[in-house]
Amino acid sequence: MQKLDKLDINSMTADELQAFLVMNHIPKYRSKQIFRWLHKHVVSDFTQMHNLPDDLICFLEHSCKITKIQPKQEQISRDKTRKYLFQLEDDKTIETVLIPERRRKTICVSSQVGCGMGCTFCATGLQGFTRNLTAGEIAKQVEFIQHKQGNVTNVVFMGMGEPLNNYTPVMNSIAIMNHSDGISLGLRRFTISTCGIVPKIRQLANDNTQVGLAVSLHAANDRKRRLIMPAAEVYSIDMLMDSCRYYAERTNRRITFEYALIADFNDTLADCRELVELLKDVNCHVNIIPINPVVQKYQRSQQSRIKAFVDYLNKNRIQASVRKERGTDIEAACGQLKQSTREDYDEYS
Ligand code: SAH
Ligand code: SF4
Repeated sequence: MQKLDKLDINSMTADELQAFLVMNHIPKYRSKQIFRWLHKHVVSDFTQMHNLPDDLICFLEHSCKITKIQPKQEQISRDKTRKYLFQLEDDKTIETVLIPERRRKTICVSSQVGCGMGCTFCATGLQGFTRNLTAGEIAKQVEFIQHKQGNVTNVVFMGMGEPLNNYTPVMNSIAIMNHSDGISLGLRRFTISTCGIVPKIRQLANDNTQVGLAVSLHAANDRKRRLIMPAAEVYSIDMLMDSCRYYAERTNRRITFEYALIADFNDTLADCRELVELLKDVNCHVNIIPINPVVQKYQRSQQSRIKAFVDYLNKNRIQASVRKERGTDIEAACGQLKQSTREDYDEYS
């Protein structure tokens, strides 16, 4: 007889878990208990679920598996940013970053192993795409850190991967983290960052979830955008801006545009004027990210250029700020996350 794969219980939303149990003639109220064990207490074994009867534990062990993500390395930056390297069940690795601020504790999660979008300035993109993460693997990055460090206030999908290319698991992971029997984070505390997958931005708008949207723009015209972001070949700026306006209308939420400032590429006053023109009728905030040099050819703009760029935007009534650099000394900043090989972390574990 063919052996059936065990079900991925960590990736089930609360409703899916309940439906699965009911289908197997297990009382509904058990669903709440199991969900709490998985997502609040972050157990690694069904036998740790102390308030369940033995026969139920036995059933779960035979039919389901608990998602395992093994922390293999934890690095702490001078600015207290922490970077975790997690090893997945298939030995692939991902990185997750915890950014403590005065009133916030933000986790930057990965949604894929690698990324297939190929942005030329991004370490993740340079490694290519390996696979999508499951909802359980995404949520568990946050649950693990919450369990260890506590007080997580925000989750941003700005780690490895393009979250809108892994739409359903990402949305299910948010439902799991939002649930009151899990870590119970409000929907408005999540931000999805995308390089601009237009149909999925529209889907997000239609789903009207109240999750925040950040769009990686990085240039105000197609010619420049296409030089650094292959996805821009498929989705023009006009298509992208239409989808952003649609999202803003449907959700009533302000969009964040990310703009990685690259010396002598997109940091001149002419670039800035073009950006003002593009964004003048959109309810948005612009986040300027001084580029983290992952490849030699992209260098950071001079401080005076960065300041002039932001000042010009603000003067022209486009709200803008410079994203504070965090965790650069441990390669935890934007665009620096990557997969590791066993040799990279073996000495630690
Ligand atoms: N794939 C998504 C989310 C992950 S990247 C996206 O591209 O939006 C998170 C942010 O870091 C994006 O705005 C991305 O463009 C930016 N980024 C990537 N590499 C960078 C680098 N070397 N320096 C600064 N920002 C970078
Ligand atoms: Fe992928 Fe985002 Fe990196 Fe582009 S910037 S390669 S979309 S992770």
